[in-house]
Amino acid sequence: MAEGRSRLTRRAFLTLSALAAVEAACRPSLSLFRPSDEILDPFQYYPSRDWERLYRDLYRYDSTFHFLCAPNDTHNCLLKAYVKNNVIVRIGPSFGYGRATDLYGNAASARWDPRCCNKGLALLRRIYGPRRCRQPMVRRGFKEWVERGFPRDAAGRPPRELFQRGKDEWVQVSWEEAFDLAARALLNIAKTYTGEHGARLLRAQGYDEAMIEAMKGSGTQTLKFRGGMPLLGTVRIMALYRLANALALLDAKLRNVGPDQALGGRGWDSYSWHTDLPPGHPMVTGQQTVEFDLCDAENARMVICWGMNWISTKMPDAHWLTEARLKGTKIVAVTVEYSSTCSKADEVVIIRPGTDAALALGIAHVLIKEKLYDEEFVKCFTDLPLLVRMDTLGHLKASDIIPNYRPAPLQNNVKIVKPGEDAPPPIRQEAQYISEELRQEWGDFTVWDAKAGKPAVVTRDEVGEHFKRKGVDPALEGEFEVQLVDGRRVRVRPVFDLIKQYVFDTFDPDSVSKLTWAPKEAILNLAREIARFRGSTLVAVGMGPNHFFNNDLKDRAIFLVCALTRNVGVHGGNIGSYAGNYRSALFNGNPQFIAENPFDIELDPTKPARTKSYYKMESAHYFNYGDRPLRIGNKLFTGKTHLPTPTKVMWFANSNSILGNIKWHYDVVVNTLPKVEMIVVQDWWWTASCEYADVVFPVDSWAEFKYPDMTASVTNPFLQVFPRTGLPRLHNTRSDIEVCAGVSRRLAELTGDRRFADYWKFVEEGKVEVYLQRILNASTTTRGYRIEELEAKAKEGIPALILTRTYPKIMGWEHTNESKPWYTKTGRLEYYRPEPEFIEYGEAIPVYREPV
Ligand code: SF4
Repeated sequence: MAEGRSRLTRRAFLTLSALAAVEAACRPSLSLFRPSDEILDPFQYYPSRDWERLYRDLYRYDSTFHFLCAPNDTHNCLLKAYVKNNVIVRIGPSFGYGRATDLYGNAASARWDPRCCNKGLALLRRIYGPRRCRQPMVRRGFKEWVERGFPRDAAGRPPRELFQRGKDEWVQVSWEEAFDLAARALLNIAKTYTGEHGARLLRAQGYDEAMIEAMKGSGTQTLKFRGGMPLLGTVRIMALYRLANALALLDAKLRNVGPDQALGGRGWDSYSWHTDLPPGHPMVTGQQTVEFDLCDAENARMVICWGMNWISTKMPDAHWLTEARLKGTKIVAVTVEYSSTCSKADEVVIIRPGTDAALALGIAHVLIKEKLYDEEFVKCFTDLPLLVRMDTLGHLKASDIIPNYRPAPLQNNVKIVKPGEDAPPPIRQEAQYISEELRQEWGDFTVWDAKAGKPAVVTRDEVGEHFKRKGVDPALEGEFEVQLVDGRRVRVRPVFDLIKQYVFDTFDPDSVSKLTWAPKEAILNLAREIARFRGSTLVAVGMGPNHFFNNDLKDRAIFLVCALTRNVGVHGGNIGSYAGNYRSALFNGNPQFIAENPFDIELDPTKPARTKSYYKMESAHYFNYGDRPLRIGNKLFTGKTHLPTPTKVMWFANSNSILGNIKWHYDVVVNTLPKVEMIVVQDWWWTASCEYADVVFPVDSWAEFKYPDMTASVTNPFLQVFPRTGLPRLHNTRSDIEVCAGVSRRLAELTGDRRFADYWKFVEEGKVEVYLQRILNASTTTRGYRIEELEAKAKEGIPALILTRTYPKIMGWEHTNESKPWYTKTGRLEYYRPEPEFIEYGEAIPVYREPV
């Protein structure tokens, strides 16, 4: 037996042991590859997953709240903040837009959600950012100037060494001290420049005499306030204009005058100075700006983004454009550079900067030459058929050819205000109100009736269907001779004929191509496509071209193209310009707040305020232009109604554009700012404006609001409320409206006039809703809404629909669809401007000027 057995050597034993160990080690692993019947959910059998908790905790939150993101991008989005340990950890959309309704039950669609953009999602970096304004700050030199009793030289100038803005140190002060310093400076500056003594000082400082005259002896007229971007806060930002209005109390005291003569401060605009205003819009329509909600792209067959980078700048509404394109809408970009919008366009027309009007006139040339224009629209809704006298270049009026002519009584959506009467407040206006004086001045107009072979009278009422019913066939072309009431014979031509000659003489496609650098084929193609999509082409115009001196001509020429192709006031066929703040008019009851009569304050929260405007609006253009009017040689181009006054205080909220990133910044800082004696900034982010200020009031970010507010937009149909939030204030900040109330309270103490404090009673009592409700009650587009209900919805992330006539809202709908007159002398879209300055400068019709 022993012989028969193999002999196990040590080497063989070790080898066999190793093999057995490997086999044993492999056995369980290999078994994993066998199908298992008994383990249905492998995750149940996964080893400990506790480590995942750490990862998941990053996304866990304790609570949420909604707040309104509303920078000056005009969109406004209710956002949802996710909070952990009292800190916002992330932000997302509210998904409440699809649940928005109006008072009648009309509802928005779910396609509005999600509404936000990457900037909104990253906003917590700003809310918790390192440059938050954390406490009231005063510049050391300014503080010393106030504490030393406002020393001045013989011309009234403060000591230069105390006004080293941008280089000086900052001193942290309490809120009460900051209020005191600002209020005392307001008093001193207003007093210094009041009366003849003040005028002498200003003369010695070199101000234009016309500016000094415009003050009418009131030192408060040197105090300038800018609620920067006013629509973004109907009370907290507009509070600055209310403060300007209250300063009439100070003027009454300083000049010893009554409420009938007192003057408040001045309010700087946020629209025309920013070149947000497209000046040609009021020239053609009488309306400050014409536009359409961007979701109207749904209804268009062609959208032209003209100088407007829709995709990048209209972030939460970019999807309307891309979705329209998916459904077959043609997208064209007219632009000076390649942009994200170009990447979404079917056609891109790149032009030389500032030549927009030339391109539009070239398109008009093709439309007229190829008879592609809509003759009926042109005859019924525009002034193009109206006759112009070749001797005076004025309109041929009915009174020129009919002895003892008396203007016809007007009835089409219009009311005439007799001398001594006032138009009712906006909420009770159901028609256009025109003073008797203007009615008489405008008179009635004429066309050449091709059927009768003689002139026919056209009144302002006779637009659209009303004109059609008249049975007159107005000639668009030709030159005619008429006999005036004094027996003279003069030549007359329709406006259309004048424009036709101009574009035929000058703007053939070859010439336009040379001027604009756009290919000739692109010009021809664009004209033919607009004509093909008549009544269904939207032209969204950007504000970039407004920065050129020829900006009004650009609008007038593009409007001409739109009118030739019935693309005005139709769903899917309109013109629009997008900046935003002109839509403060959506709250046309705002005077209830900003213009409450400070001499007659309503302290009963259930009653409306009585209003009187003591503050005067002034364009910030003049300040930005060296604080002077436009005077060249001996000629003063600035009209009397627009004359600026010297700027001694500038006070602004929520905007960096009037100083930090102002145009011509170097000139403003070096040459203009030294003439200003107090600069007050209210902001939540330490901007370049703060660097050059004297007093900085730190205010709440949108996520920390303790007072509700409201806003709306030009690009979407939502009435939005900034809800109060439960997030504790991160720093020693207050609401903008509390800043105005605090300074006013101090003015009451310093002057002994209690009305300064009463003017802000409902702020001090924490009931700012009283002011908001007064605005809602008095605004045409919001009457019927209750602020408490709006705020409760906003807290859930749901806005309301604003009560405009159509949804989507489009300007011009009533004029084109209901034959109501435009807000012009003729009641029509006006392409001819007979006013002397237009004739003198050769711009009575839309022409092209090189940009300057
Ligand atoms: S689109 Fe404008 S309002 Fe909306 S989240 Fe972005 S930054 Fe805020």
